[in-house]
Amino acid sequence: MDFDPVTETDPKVAEALEGETTRQEDTLAMIASENHASETVLAAQGSALTNKYAEGYPGARYYGGCENVDQVEQLAIDRAKELYDADHANVQPHSGTQANMAVYFSVLEPGDKILSLDLNHGGHLSHGHPVNFSGKLYEVEQYEIDPETGRVDYEMLNEKAHEFEPDIIVSGFSAYPRVVDWERVQETADEVGAYHLADMAHITGLVATGEHPNPVGIADFTTGSTHKTIRAGRGGMILTDEEHADAIDKTVFPGIQGGPLMHNIAGKAVGFAEALEPEFEDYMEQTVSNAKALGESMMERGFKLVSGGTDNHLILVDLRQSHPDVTGNDAADALEEAGIVLNANTVPGETRSAMEPSGIRIGSPGLTTRGFDEAEMREVGALISRVLDNIEDESVIAEVSEEVERLTDEHPLYK
Ligand SMILES: *Cc1c(COP(=O)(O)O)cnc(C)c1O
Repeated sequence: MDFDPVTETDPKVAEALEGETTRQEDTLAMIASENHASETVLAAQGSALTNKYAEGYPGARYYGGCENVDQVEQLAIDRAKELYDADHANVQPHSGTQANMAVYFSVLEPGDKILSLDLNHGGHLSHGHPVNFSGKLYEVEQYEIDPETGRVDYEMLNEKAHEFEPDIIVSGFSAYPRVVDWERVQETADEVGAYHLADMAHITGLVATGEHPNPVGIADFTTGSTHKTIRAGRGGMILTDEEHADAIDKTVFPGIQGGPLMHNIAGKAVGFAEALEPEFEDYMEQTVSNAKALGESMMERGFKLVSGGTDNHLILVDLRQSHPDVTGNDAADALEEAGIVLNANTVPGETRSAMEPSGIRIGSPGLTTRGFDEAEMREVGALISRVLDNIEDESVIAEVSEEVERLTDEHPLYK
């Protein structure tokens, strides 16, 4: 990658930019929410569109000179609608959290009630956690994962919905390895007269290609991150029907945001076009096969996976049985030393704490982008296992680092 202009004028920042590119090149990025965007997406995001003020929407802006950004935003909108078969798309949310905020602000009043998946069971801060605006502004009740099956406890969701009478039910997750039954959540929402927000954050790419069922057309609102499995520019989006389109647009701007980040919207447009290509279907299919192969290789080595496997791009490993003395943080730290980057994560029935959880979450999107196949994912599973079985042994960590170097060399990222 070419950082020459920065190198000349700001060597300190240039050093960090180059350092980060090298870090991504030389490590295995297995944080499930991360991916490697194409150089085309990076170029669009690094363009002069960052300079442009464009408050409003295509064809109806508060500023002059918007003909080019109008074109870009309209392309992003049209491509999002095509990808998800949606009546309406808003591509301006600066992040997935802002997309959720826009939905809440469109249909809720402060003090209204949200029913959502507990963060410790795979939910997200923006689904009503006390430290987040959503937990401060609204009354929140949460459903959980069934500890036996590792799956969303839809009966608990239904019972809680009848008791709590929420104004909105939030489905979707940050750390759940299975398919979400959007229809079943919608049935409950219909029974209690609640809105349904399907937050497909992580699985925007899987949904785009049909690897995971599409919530659009079932839920009232679907939100998503545009930089996770879909690999487009960084940010969020909202998909909805004609009925809620105006409310959403008005809430995003002027309700909660000022000028849209047009350079990011250009990155979204470019990434969405890539996701419409047939190769992207192969990519998502491979991503799921790779997560399954990784999970199988770890289970063969005695690891316990929440729900016993995966249907999507991530696995959630509960370390308590196989490695009772190793916390998620210990595991993540040792693996990072060996060049494998992932995150500690709470597990259903957590007995430690959110700061010191008992699991690790491992994703396949990044490695699949680099061209890893099932056999290589099984190798990675073996490497992870070797580190965690010998967590204090520096020589093992050094050996695994060499294997990581070989794998990353075989699959260069940005040539
Ligand atoms: C990642 C994520 C979001 C949005 O995250 P941002 O970092 O704000 O883009 C929202 N909901 C869920 C479930 C997520 O996993």
